[in-house]
Amino acid sequence: MTPALRVTDLRKIYRSGTVAVDGLSLTVEEGDFFGFLGPNGAGKSTTIHCITGIATITSGSIEIFGVDAVKDYREARRLVGLSPQEFNVDVFATPVQIVDWVGGYFGIRKPERKRRIAELMERFELTDHLKKPFRALSGGLKRRVILARALINKPKLLILDEPTAGVDVELRLDLWRYLAELNRDGTTILLTTHYLEEVERLCRNIAIVNKGKIVRQGPKESFLAGDGLEAAYLGATGAKPDHVAAGAA
Ligand code: ADP
Repeated sequence: MTPALRVTDLRKIYRSGTVAVDGLSLTVEEGDFFGFLGPNGAGKSTTIHCITGIATITSGSIEIFGVDAVKDYREARRLVGLSPQEFNVDVFATPVQIVDWVGGYFGIRKPERKRRIAELMERFELTDHLKKPFRALSGGLKRRVILARALINKPKLLILDEPTAGVDVELRLDLWRYLAELNRDGTTILLTTHYLEEVERLCRNIAIVNKGKIVRQGPKESFLAGDGLEAAYLGATGAKPDHVAAGAA
């Protein structure tokens, strides 16, 4: 079966000379809920930006459901929904306007857009907030608008860059429920997060990136064996506090 995402030997060197991604290879199978972890500055966002065409790649290749993300950028981009880390929206726009704009970008016709937006607003329980500008919404509601926007083109692959950063516990539980539902309905999900609990709950496979390279990957169970995910994470990223080192000895 063609994987949802295949990244092969990806390198990204910024103009500043920073090697952000350094020969990274990664495969995400269709239907997976994949955790993409690593410390700050490891190259996660850069990888995501290369996958979604926000950043140009230096070398390597990226295929989304078999479509070349560089050569056939437009076709590949249609298959992906992105919930970026930063809220890159017009803060004076309402939830509907924000989602509608991206629907227009993807060439979805107005009646279909209207129908989809109504569905998404319902699904993410945003119907009480439709008249409010984005900037007046709470952190959790903002996240939901961004998620609704990422779903307007019915993406087969959803990429989430720290979707629950700054979201309180209750809303985080809501978001987890939405994400689990989406995955159950067939959407492949690539999740970047610093909350290991989130990964334990949601993901089936995990890759850990450090200094632009994958340092460990496999099924979640292989990370949970032994001292658990945190110890595996710290071990893989080279940060070994005494208790982890002692546990591993
Ligand atoms: P992560 O998402 O894992 O925190 P990033 O991909 O944001 O990592 O960053 C990887 C490296 O690339 C860091 O050293 C960061 O400073 C650098 N970097 C990120 N974006 C840019 C940019 N637009 N220009 C130059 N360097 C960048």
